[in-house]
Amino acid sequence: MKNRTWLQVLILVLFFIVPLFDIFRIDMVHLHFYVLGRKFSFDDGYILLLTVLVLVFTFVSISKWFGRQFCGWMCPHNTFSGYLTKLTNSKALKNNATLRNTIDIGLSVIFAPVIGFSMIAYFYNPQDLLAEIIHFDTSAWSFWAYFITTVFFFLMINRLRHKFCRNACPYGMLQMILSDKNSRQGGFRNMFRGAGFVLTILMTVMISLLLVAIFNSTGFAVSIAKNIQGIPAQNKIIYTYNLEIENLEKQPMAYTLEYKNIPQTWDSPQVKTVTVPANSVSTQSLIFRIDQGSVGINTNVTVIVKNEKGKTIERELNIFPIRK
Ligand code: SF4
Repeated sequence: MKNRTWLQVLILVLFFIVPLFDIFRIDMVHLHFYVLGRKFSFDDGYILLLTVLVLVFTFVSISKWFGRQFCGWMCPHNTFSGYLTKLTNSKALKNNATLRNTIDIGLSVIFAPVIGFSMIAYFYNPQDLLAEIIHFDTSAWSFWAYFITTVFFFLMINRLRHKFCRNACPYGMLQMILSDKNSRQGGFRNMFRGAGFVLTILMTVMISLLLVAIFNSTGFAVSIAKNIQGIPAQNKIIYTYNLEIENLEKQPMAYTLEYKNIPQTWDSPQVKTVTVPANSVSTQSLIFRIDQGSVGINTNVTVIVKNEKGKTIERELNIFPIRK
């Protein structure tokens, strides 16, 4: 096989497997995202932002470095449409309109749902989507998003094909805007001259920052929400909070909790260690029994959560005790 064919097949396969193997996908329902097989909560939104920037600048840079060669060498839509057109225009089918149309529609019917599935899987858990499709769960919005996407891709494969490139593809239009004398000739030399060189530096910096951010991430998320506030009990005033620790790792993890700035006259929370199963959330109740002398005094309590690997997350609690 030629280099170009290898690359086309590789990119086509990547398009399908990237969300399935969590190389990159966003779970819009559970508010998580995955990069290079690692799971993140939206608290780590800067990693998502960096990933999206790297993706956007990858496409911009490819246009600048190699001109319109992305279409011919890498675009999954072009690869797929190209091979389908080659097949339906082949000698065996050219003079047999019935067989040609049957194969054309048959392949569109087979591939449109597969491509539709992959597209939705970038934004929705693929296992959940598969279960909804198998059980024909019409009450799920994702089922209908899948259905509409499948119809769209059926039209793309069966009707639009290269007409989409000429008339509607935003990336095709971007390529025309970015195209200049150098990029029209294409080539690796463009990576080291003019605006192409600026993009090379920018991409190197962004990818490095992204890798550092991914490998230094904590692997867990912490949130604290108010619960009971200012309820008198015996001689004290009760304030409670729900502490949620979400373990984003693929193995169970033990966490130690430390509390700072709690006045000595308060009864402080007892929770000191929590073990959370893999990919799960543990909710703990933090109870503060506050003495009457602290009424009207603003206190910032710091909660420090540390995992077995020594990674920590700090959260501040602002407590302003009042009498009710
Ligand atoms: S114009 Fe758009 S859809 Fe067409 S081959 Fe290029 S990138 Fe792909």
